[in-house]
Parts: sequence; C-alpha cells; structure tokens
Amino acid sequence: MTDLPRTYLESQLSDWWGIHGRDLPWNETDDPYAIWISEIILQQTRVETGLKYYQDFLAKWPTMRHLAEATEDEVLRAWQGLGYYSRARNLHRSAKILVSDHQAQLPRSSSELQKLPGIGPYTSAAIASFAYGEKSIALDGNIHRVLSRVFYVAIDLTKSKERRALEKLGRDLIHQDSALWNRSLMEIGSSICQPRSTDCEICPLSSICQAFAKKDTLKYPIKKKRITVRERYLDFLLVRDNECLLIEKRGSEGIWKSLYQLPLIEQEKPETEPKATSSWNDIGDTLSIQLLHQEIRQLTHQSLRIRIYGTEMLTGPLKSSSYIIHPIESLDQLAFPISLRQFLELQGLI
Ligand code: SF4
Repeated sequence: MTDLPRTYLESQLSDWWGIHGRDLPWNETDDPYAIWISEIILQQTRVETGLKYYQDFLAKWPTMRHLAEATEDEVLRAWQGLGYYSRARNLHRSAKILVSDHQAQLPRSSSELQKLPGIGPYTSAAIASFAYGEKSIALDGNIHRVLSRVFYVAIDLTKSKERRALEKLGRDLIHQDSALWNRSLMEIGSSICQPRSTDCEICPLSSICQAFAKKDTLKYPIKKKRITVRERYLDFLLVRDNECLLIEKRGSEGIWKSLYQLPLIEQEKPETEPKATSSWNDIGDTLSIQLLHQEIRQLTHQSLRIRIYGTEMLTGPLKSSSYIIHPIESLDQLAFPISLRQFLELQGLI
C-alpha cells in the first residue's frame, strides 16, 4: 500500500473516531501506568464494569510505586468482583519488579513488555501503541474479526505464524497514529462489524474491505469450537461465633487463588446435601445446618453451583488448624470471591 491511501485512510478514520469514539479516561491519558492498569482491567471485563474499578484503582494507587508498596491482600480486595484474580496478582508482581529493577518505568516496546507477568501479545501491543506510539496492532477478538474481513482471510490466533501475518497486514495500514488505529478498529468491531451482523454502509473501512466487496461479510473469522464447561458443586458453611466468623484461605491453585472463603466442601454430585457440620473437614461438633442461599455463577470454563448453609455456634474446639476465627468488624479488609462477598453483605457481616 502506498503512502497516499494510508494517509487518506487515517484521516477518514480520524474523522470517524471524532464522531464515534467513546469518551473514556484511558483514551484521554498518556500516562503509561494508567494505560497499563486499564488494559489489564479490560482484558476480561466489560468497559462499563471496568470503568469504576479503573478509577478506584488509580485513586488508591496513583503511581507504580504506590502499587508496589501495597500488600497482595489489599490489591486482591480492590479487585473483588472483577474475577480472574491472576490479573491482579500479576499487576502487583510486575509493579514490584518494575520498581526494583526499572526505576518504576514500563518498558517502551511490546517485546520487552511481554517479559512481565500477565502481559501477552495483545496487551503488550496495546500498551506500546497507546502509551508510546509503537506501530503495533493489538489483536483482540474485535480487531481480529475486522481485519479478517478487511483482508478476507482465515487466521487462527493460537498459531503464532498466522497471528504475526495478520499483525503485519494490520500494521501496514498504519500511516502514523497506531493508537488511533487500534482504538478505531476495536470500536468498529464492537459496534458495526459484529460477529453476526455488519453495518458496512457506515464503516470507514468499506473502501478497502474485501469481504464487503465480495458481499460475503460474515464468512470470516472462522467460528471457534464451543468450549466445554465443567460443572462444580460448592457448599459453604457460615459459622458465626459471637463477633467472629470462621473462614479459611484458599490455596494457590485453581479458581479464586489466595482469596478468603467460608469453610467449603466440594460435592461430586448435585443432589448430595450435607446434613451436619461434620461434613466439612474437621470443623468440630456435629450440629444441624440450614440452607441460607444458593446461586449459579458462570465462568468461562466452569459453572459453579453454590450453596451456603448456616449453623449454630460451635461448642467444641476446632479440629483443623486451616480455619481462621476472624473478627467480623474487619472482614471487609479481606478479599472474598464475589458470590461470598455479596452474601456476607446481605447478612450484614461486611
Ligand atoms: S466494511 Fe463491513 S465487513 Fe468490512 S470491516 Fe467494515 S463493517 Fe466489517
């Protein structure tokens, strides 16, 4: 492609963005730290939800040094409700690495950014483009779809050779302003070039779009196979002892790593109901229990059937040291999975 169409296309895109671009704080800043935070929050979160977390996060930790000085529990607590907690852990770890080894500065290139925990090809390209103007294309689902149609190609993003080929095609479109390209392509993908419908008449890329020219706009990208969702049955127990609550800390594997929770048993089958507190590992005396709450929570690969039971105060000593007797008045200092937090709020315990 010559400079002429690139210049022309970029000015078309700029006009389009001026009208359709969303006023979001991370589009207005050139602070690499704030851009990094926004990209990590938005990895698996809708813009509407992520906005509040972004603002709260920056109010609490306005610079990399502030974040590095926080404890992991504090960061996880600020992340409550966003899910995918490894993002928060990696942010925190990266902040510590950057403060100790890089004078609290984010690397300027996507290849260097990828050396940090939790930053892959998409996020590194987005940060390098938005913060430093690197000519890179951040291939998220939206941009993948738009470029697959513009170039009328089937690209499997899990294959790095194919991914790099599409990144190059996208990069070759950029004249100067890669941030404009990335923002506009994301917005075009989410608003007018959607998985099952396209609004090509108002698309600023229709003049170069091969799918539009061939009147075959929905052929690409090739749809992925459906993912298998695992069903899990989680029963929690609310045990209150005067002004304290029995809790435990999750291990460092699986979902909700290192968060706090009520004592848990995981059932193999949905119909098996716990009948007494002794069903929970070594919790103590056998007392009857009653169901207080149930819900289903859908994650990408798991469907969680959650039940929460309540019981009377325990009379005997705890038989397991994995449980913690924690004062209710400071429970809100701890990070719980969102289902448990909402339940504890409803019970007036947080
Ligand atoms: S012209 Fe149509 S198919 Fe092509 S990118 Fe725009 S909306 Fe998508």
